[in-house]
Amino acid sequence: MIVGIPRALLYYKNEKLWTKFFDELGIDYIISPETNKEIIENGSKYAIDETCLPIKIFLGHVDYLKDKCDYIFIPRIETAQDTETCLNFRAQYDLIKNAFRKYDIKLLFYNEVGHKKHKEYKAFKKLCKYLKIKKSLGKYAYQMAKQTQLYYELFRSEYQENILKNSKKIKVLVLAHAYNIGDKYVGEPILNMLKKLNTEPIIAEYFDAKRCVKESLKVSKTLPWSYNRHLLGALELYKNMVDGVILITTYPCGPDSMCDEMIVRHYKDIPIVTLTLDAQDATAGIETRLESFIDILNYKRKNSYE
Ligand code: SF4
Repeated sequence: MIVGIPRALLYYKNEKLWTKFFDELGIDYIISPETNKEIIENGSKYAIDETCLPIKIFLGHVDYLKDKCDYIFIPRIETAQDTETCLNFRAQYDLIKNAFRKYDIKLLFYNEVGHKKHKEYKAFKKLCKYLKIKKSLGKYAYQMAKQTQLYYELFRSEYQENILKNSKKIKVLVLAHAYNIGDKYVGEPILNMLKKLNTEPIIAEYFDAKRCVKESLKVSKTLPWSYNRHLLGALELYKNMVDGVILITTYPCGPDSMCDEMIVRHYKDIPIVTLTLDAQDATAGIETRLESFIDILNYKRKNSYE
């Protein structure tokens, strides 16, 4: 049996958890390749116009995998850190089932339901039951996978805190969803541009989710989406340690458009630039905007020392 894992959406949050889980169980898997233009174009064929870019990318990765494996792993996650996720994450199974109805593909369904205690473990337990894997083996695989994921997250977070404390370079906090900033086609070119401009990009997504979501409550008690809360909380926590903030959003994202507007209004004293990416030109034209923004940050820092 070969499981196909789409390199899209929550893969960028849970890569270690999922791959280690399958590794421990000795289940073979393939991960779709890095996103490229062809994957986006293929994914767009399954989507209506109003679909956001990350979902088009996700559809493109499923399309790539559809005839290369026995099952395609489709995770559905309703809540994170006790807050709801965007509707797109809750509709994933139905979305894929419907978009690929003409094809004979089997979906390996992973379903984290509501606010239940141990919902992550329960989702893996159910998946093991479906695959007829012994309960004890599944539990062990989950524990090992969880540990690997937690170590990885801790390492990333501490690494960045170290940069924040010690780097003398211009530091920009990048607020972008994991699947945007982690994607080679979408986020990586922006990070490369920032590095070329001799700045230190700090990825908000890499800070501890639980701590960030809690911190976000200081800014808004009502913001509904967990992953946006994560980014907002990181900004609230580290706002005094960075020179500026870059908001990266993909067209047309409802949660980002509301949250980003709130951030711009709330953090009036911090230089902020918003970059909106779409399926057509992705990062085209971004370089000039980034250069001007970094010029402003350099000027600001220079003047604050005079
Ligand atoms: S949060 Fe925005 S970008 Fe992410 S899946 Fe939802 S609509 Fe798409």
